[in-house]
Amino acid sequence: RFISFEGGDGSGKTTQIRKLAERIRQAGGDVVVTREPGGTDLGLKIRQALLHGEDLSPRTEALLYSADRAHHMATVVRPALERSATVITDRFMDSSIAYQGGARGLGIDTITKLNRWAVEDLVPDMTILLDLDPVIGAQRVGAKKDRLESAGDAFHAEVRQTFLDLAAKEPDRFVVVDASRTPEEISADIGTAYDRLR
Ligand code: C5P
Ligand code: MG
Repeated sequence: RFISFEGGDGSGKTTQIRKLAERIRQAGGDVVVTREPGGTDLGLKIRQALLHGEDLSPRTEALLYSADRAHHMATVVRPALERSATVITDRFMDSSIAYQGGARGLGIDTITKLNRWAVEDLVPDMTILLDLDPVIGAQRVGAKKDRLESAGDAFHAEVRQTFLDLAAKEPDRFVVVDASRTPEEISADIGTAYDRLR
């Protein structure tokens, strides 16, 4: 099974991924937790360039995220799925569609095509969207903001709306979870969705 977690900064993806992975492990499952950008050695270099490097053009940014993803898919995700592990990734192609396609204005269709090509059409079985008002997300992230998290409110509002539009277009793949609630309430919903998937 291939599961992605999506959502804005501060929506609690890391915490919830840890909880779901624990639940699967306790049931005896083989689970690989990974992330984008930066799930590989090469990906960490790309992540460094994206988050802490010089200003990049939107197209450069989109290509670097998809390069990270292509390598991550080929060397981490596919091999794990082939041995029947469950793979949980912190962000996947919907992030690129929301951030670069929607908020940066490169276009939903263009970024979708680029990323489908990058991953050879391997789409998650389930995508958990942790939906949260980006103003609250920014408060949670606090002072730890990186270059991209410092983008304006309108940018993050567009990211959120694009995620919600994607979820509405693919209701069978997406599970939209209200991430403004307590971690326990959120993880209960995710557990229910996971049980339905199996
Ligand atoms: O989720 P994580 O903190 O690893 O994301 C790193 C940064 O990259 C965040 O600031 C996020 O908003 C940004 N990002 C982006 N475009 C993507 C994925 C992440 O701008 N496709
Ligand atoms: Mg972050």
